[in-house]
Amino acid sequence: MAKTDLTIPNKGIPRKDLLQRLGTLASQDVDFKGNRVFGLVYQLSDEHTDFLKAAHGQFFSANGLNPMAFKSLKRMESDVVRMTASLFNGGNGVVGTLTSGGTESILLAVLAYREHARRHRPWVLRPEIIVPASAHAAFYKAGQYFDVKIVRAPLDKDFRADVNAVRKRINWKTIAIVASAPCYPYGVIDPVQELAQLAAARGIGMHVDACLGGYLLPFVGRLPADQRPCDIPPFDFGVPGVTSMSADVHKYGYAAKGASTLLYRNMDYLKHQFSVETEWCGGVYVSPTLAGTRPGGAIAGAWAALNAIGEDGYLANAANLMQVTRTYLEGIRQTPGLCILGNPVMSVLSFGAAKGGPDIYAVGDFLEARGWHIDRIQNPAGLHLILNPGHAGVAAAWLADLREGVAYVLAHPEAAAEGSAPMYGMIAKLPLRGLVKKNVLAFMQRMYSDEDVDSVLSSSGTEEDGSATGGATDDGVPLILRKLLRAKARLTKFRERF
Ligand SMILES: *Cc1c(COP(=O)(O)O)cnc(C)c1O
Repeated sequence: MAKTDLTIPNKGIPRKDLLQRLGTLASQDVDFKGNRVFGLVYQLSDEHTDFLKAAHGQFFSANGLNPMAFKSLKRMESDVVRMTASLFNGGNGVVGTLTSGGTESILLAVLAYREHARRHRPWVLRPEIIVPASAHAAFYKAGQYFDVKIVRAPLDKDFRADVNAVRKRINWKTIAIVASAPCYPYGVIDPVQELAQLAAARGIGMHVDACLGGYLLPFVGRLPADQRPCDIPPFDFGVPGVTSMSADVHKYGYAAKGASTLLYRNMDYLKHQFSVETEWCGGVYVSPTLAGTRPGGAIAGAWAALNAIGEDGYLANAANLMQVTRTYLEGIRQTPGLCILGNPVMSVLSFGAAKGGPDIYAVGDFLEARGWHIDRIQNPAGLHLILNPGHAGVAAAWLADLREGVAYVLAHPEAAAEGSAPMYGMIAKLPLRGLVKKNVLAFMQRMYSDEDVDSVLSSSGTEEDGSATGGATDDGVPLILRKLLRAKARLTKFRERF
C-alpha cells in the first residue's frame, strides 16, 4: 500500500505546466462534454457556460460573509430569492437565502424546523420528520447532523408518496413532512396538496424539495398540453400548508455550481436558521447559512443565469427538454423487456426490467463498457437518466446501444453474474444493511486515509476479471463487498451440491 509522501513542491511549478496537468487529470473524468453522462452536470449551451465563467470570474474573490462589505452580493442574493419566490407563487412574506447546493438547503431547512420546534414545542425532545422513501439522501444526512429522526414512508404503486402511509406516521413528535417535486429516483411529483393539507391540519411544517425541478417544472407546466406528459399539479407556495421549498439554481437553473435557494413562507422559520455569536474575540459574528466565507462567484453565477436565460429561455429549454425526453422514453418503451418506473413529469426518469426482461444492472454494465455513464438505483433495480439539451444529439446512439445491451444480456444471462452487475444486485438485496454500511464506511476511511488515492480508487475496480465493465465502475464500491459477493457465490454453489 503506497503511502503518499507528498509535500508542497519546494519550488512552485510553472502555472502553464500545471494547467496542462490539470487537463490531463480532467481527461480521466467521465466525458460530460461529449454528453455521455446522464446526471451530475447540467449545461445549457457552450455560449451560456462561457458567459457564466465570466460572471463568476468577476466575483471570484468576493465574499458574501459580510454583506456590508459586499453589498453587491447581498443585492444579488435578494434578487435571486425574490425571482424564485415569484416563480413559486410566493407572496410578499416569502423569504430565503442562497446556499451552496441542495444539500445545504435541506440541512438548513431541517435545522430551522428543529429550532422552530424547540421554541414552540419544547417538550418534543427527539423531533421527527416524515419523508417519502424517494426523498433525497440529504434528509438523512440532516437527521444525522442535527439529531432529528427521519421517518421513512413507503411509496404508492406509481412511486409517489403514499398519503395514508404518511398520515399514519404523524405523531406528537412530528415537526414536518417532506414532499419532492420531483423526486430524484423516478422524476415523479409527490401529492403535495394532500400532504400539505395533512401538515396544515396538524400545524406542522411542510417542505417541498424542488432542488431538481424548481427551475424546470414551472415552465413545463406552462407548455401547451401536447408538449408535456401531463398537467403539473400545484407544488409550490400557492398550496396552503407548504412552509418551505428548496430549488437548485445549479441544476436546471443552469447556474455555476454552488448555488441553491431555500425559501420559507415567512420569517418565523427563516430566523431559526441564523447564527449569531456576540461574545467572540473576533467580534460579533453573524451568519445566515452553514458556510462562513460565501464564494461570490457562485452568487453572481446564480444571478447571472436567471437574468440571462429569462422566462423565455427557460420556457424554450423546457419545450426542448420535453422533446428530448420523449425520444428517450419512446425508445425505452419500444425496447422489449424494459419498463419505465412510474410516470416521470419532466426530464428525469428511471427504467427497470419488465417481467422476463434482462438483468438491468448487466445492461448498465454494457452501456458503461460503451462509454456511457449511467447511475443505478435500487429497490427496485433500475437505471437512471437526467437529460439535458446535449443529450438530443446522442439519443440515437444511446438507444441503439441500449437495444443491443438488452439483447446481449437476454442472450447471455450469465452476464448478470459478471462485471459490477451482481455487486449492485447484492448491495441492494443483502439483508444485512448494517454490513453494507460498515463496508462502505471502511472504504471511505481508506479513501481519506494517507494511502495513495489512485491505488485506493483502482482497488475498487481493476481486480476484476476483465469482464464487460473493464473494471471501470468508479462509484467507489469497496473491495470487501466483492469479497462478500464471492463468499455468497461459494455459498450458492455449496447449496446447489445438495
Ligand atoms: C440534487 C438533489 C438534492 C441535493 O442537491 P445537491 O446540490 O447535490 O446537494 C436534493 N434533492 C433533490 C431532489 C435533488 O435532485
